[in-house]
Amino acid sequence: MSSADIGLIGLAVMGSNLALNIAENGYTIAVHNRTASRIDDFVGMATEQGLNDKVVPEADLATFISKIKRPRSVIIMVKAGKPVDDMIEQLLPLLEEGDAILECGNSLYSDSQRRFEYLKEKGIGFLGIGVSGGEEGARHGPSIMVGGPEEQWKNAQPILEAISAKFDGEPCCAYLGEGGAGHFVKTIHNGIEYGDMQMIAEVYGIMRDGLHMAPGEAAEVFREWNKGPLNSYLIEITGHVLDAVEPKTGTPLVELILDKAGQKGTGIWSAIAAQQLGVPATAIEGAVAARSISSRKDERVAAEAVYGKPAGLGGAHVDLGDLEQALLAGKIVSYAQGFVVMAKASEEFGWNLPLATIAKIWRAGCIIRSRFLDQMSAAYAQGENTNLLMVPDFVEIMKTANGSLRKIVAVAATAELPMICLSASLAYFDSYRQALGTTNLTQGQRDFFGAHGFILTDREGEQHHDWPSTLEH
Ligand code: NAP
Repeated sequence: MSSADIGLIGLAVMGSNLALNIAENGYTIAVHNRTASRIDDFVGMATEQGLNDKVVPEADLATFISKIKRPRSVIIMVKAGKPVDDMIEQLLPLLEEGDAILECGNSLYSDSQRRFEYLKEKGIGFLGIGVSGGEEGARHGPSIMVGGPEEQWKNAQPILEAISAKFDGEPCCAYLGEGGAGHFVKTIHNGIEYGDMQMIAEVYGIMRDGLHMAPGEAAEVFREWNKGPLNSYLIEITGHVLDAVEPKTGTPLVELILDKAGQKGTGIWSAIAAQQLGVPATAIEGAVAARSISSRKDERVAAEAVYGKPAGLGGAHVDLGDLEQALLAGKIVSYAQGFVVMAKASEEFGWNLPLATIAKIWRAGCIIRSRFLDQMSAAYAQGENTNLLMVPDFVEIMKTANGSLRKIVAVAATAELPMICLSASLAYFDSYRQALGTTNLTQGQRDFFGAHGFILTDREGEQHHDWPSTLEH
């Protein structure tokens, strides 16, 4: 008997929490997992939380499908990559026209595009859905970015909106376009997240190695900043991380944590997407590079032995207000880049991505949630301009904050303290606002060695120069 409003396959951390969230919102959910013991564990969890009457557990895949009301919405929350394709193949003979697979893992957007097209031919809807906010978000309200066929989105919309995070009562869940649109936006979200985290880490570097602040003192500064324009989840948790103490030794935890950052791939995907689309995203690229360098601990230790420890600030003064404004400026540049990448992808793939809505659904539930996104959403709602650096509200902020970013990057360079991401943001800003750049020289060089041609500013059409044919070197 078909009794479930929706089905979910994959009861590991994310799937279990999402299923409990759906049940808590009053929907009956059929659940399945390849390894049956996980189903029993899940039923135990649901029982503990008083939600078992909303759960239809089923170990047999065909029976699981038969228990979902038509047209069916089946969430897949299994390991990203081949397991998703394998699961789709297993589901295909069991699904009927009009049913939909809702793939909610961290999938590559081009995989979602491919799956969307493949299933469309077979009359099955494929929604590629970016779910942000980790375990906590999945359980209590994630930000949900949906791509795929509009018809099947409409079937699933009430449930997805109900389980999503809310900002001022509005669901942080939206349909963003066909095919891979949802996963593309999620990928850029993660790239921006990388940038935010790296810029915060660089500012902490000035506090620790320049100003010699103890973690607790730095935590206090972040707590203050969280009351101002930087107010956000990441600034808030930074205060908590800096305040934490390792119980065995009583040492500040952050001082014992090894300085090697991992990455699962979405930051790299967003940097690659930006490059492929021909749109610079220097802050995201910088953040990805910073994590890669961090992982080469042994090399860094050897290099410090050769070049010596960073010089430090010497007598140079660093104003905490400048540090705050530098972080704000770097963040604006990074978000501006991310949104331009999405605008370009939208054009390239015919998605019509709603930029104001994207900023809106990132205001709660996800890792980059912040007050700042409310302002950004309002800015995009006003007009078509896709570079935030040209939106009046942000122009006002950047006109003063870029000076602070400049001071901080300069002082860090002199102190030999790395700022891959903040300096990349500043370099982008300076390149973006420079009417007369320097690639006139690059064009001359390209014509010299490759006859690539150039345009002269005083006439029409491509030109070539008659370069000398012999050189000393
Ligand atoms: P996971 O560790 O990525 O995957 C484990 C789940 O996949 C288990 O249910 C496992 O079943 C199933 N699975 C693996 N290979 C399978 C196959 N060939 N056929 C059928 N099932 C298979 O789980 P997770 O950590 O909960 O993550 C799920 C998805 O969410 C991933 O795409 C992950 O990247 C994404 N994720 C997102 C966030 C976020 O913040 N949005 C956070 C974490 C993860 P068995 O029990 O049978 O092994």
